[in-house]
Amino acid sequence: MSDCIFCKLANGEIPTAKLYEDDDFSVILDANPATKGHALILPKAHYADITEMPEELTAKAFVLAKKMGSHLKETLEADGLNIVQNNGEKAGQTVFHFHIHLIPRYADGPCIVANWVQNPLSDETREEVITKASVKAL
Ligand code: AMP
Ligand code: ZN
Repeated sequence: MSDCIFCKLANGEIPTAKLYEDDDFSVILDANPATKGHALILPKAHYADITEMPEELTAKAFVLAKKMGSHLKETLEADGLNIVQNNGEKAGQTVFHFHIHLIPRYADGPCIVANWVQNPLSDETREEVITKASVKAL
């Protein structure tokens, strides 16, 4: 995608603060970090979101999230770690090139990333979702 900023960042066409790189991914610092060390895992190939990603690359992305997230938490002496991945505008995605947020958390830092109103599961909704979304194999 010639006009995708994350394609350019992931492939080194635009200079950025890069923490890690392999054949498939770059890990860069978010330009507007929620906390110190907030980083983004970017595949070098363009996929708009997780629904477009090949399974093998998706698996590699989440293994990298575990490794790089653990590494950030240890080296930056963080107290916790959020792994956040948004798909679609209504889910908060603003850049439409798949990415995983790694957000180290600190005891004295802000404590909410994602928040939603918790409503009790109704009988009607439970039945609807079970009817529509139960699946035996994926
Ligand atoms: P999302 O809302 O999940 O799509 O997240 C997009 C993230 O990309 C935000 O946290 C932005 O701060 C970050 N971002 C946007 N442009 C850049 C850029 N040029 N370099 C680094 N991070 C960026
Ligand atoms: Zn892209």
